[in-house]
Amino acid sequence: MIKTKRQIDFENKILEKSTTTDYEQAKTEWYVNSIRDGGDEKGESHCVCGQSIRWLFTLKNTKNGNTLIAGSTCMAKFADIHLGVTLTKDLTKLKKSPFALLDMSMLYWLNDKDMITDKEFNDYQRRNWETVKKVNMILLDYLKLDPTTFFKEKKKDIGEDIREKIDQLIKVAEEKKGRWLKYFAKSISEQFETRGSLSAKQLDIVNKNI
Ligand SMILES: [Zn+2]
Repeated sequence: MIKTKRQIDFENKILEKSTTTDYEQAKTEWYVNSIRDGGDEKGESHCVCGQSIRWLFTLKNTKNGNTLIAGSTCMAKFADIHLGVTLTKDLTKLKKSPFALLDMSMLYWLNDKDMITDKEFNDYQRRNWETVKKVNMILLDYLKLDPTTFFKEKKKDIGEDIREKIDQLIKVAEEKKGRWLKYFAKSISEQFETRGSLSAKQLDIVNKNI
């Protein structure tokens, strides 16, 4: 496959900061230390390939402690995911909740790579929340993201407690199989994703049901 100049620059940077000269070997030395939105920061952020980026993936080398910043495109290529935008979106959602739903393309990819079984793929789509969480952890594990630090970071997010309440409500609705409650949980979950808040009345209903 033909590589772009940025791709070559990125790979060279990885090799420069790794302890080996073999790229495939070098890949195994790195893990994702953190992901953050650089959108609000002053000045531009750049990937080591030179591309100006919004999402900053901090990669850390396990052998020598070196770090470098990658954007979502290079990160996805580095992880052989080829789904840069999806990866960023999915990880952003995951930061808010381990029960967040991954994009379908990501699910297909995980299944294609035999990281999840056909049964897990189907259960995920049926919103079996245990499977949802398990599959989500498989993705984090693949990226060598440590769930304890990954989810700790999210605590800084505003409305984190609300997100947790909504997740609880979704589980309750699943268990009760109450159609109205399921509908309500789904609709406020979507609203929270877009607006980042709930009305006092909605919150009141949530609190009464969990
Ligand atoms: Zn890059």
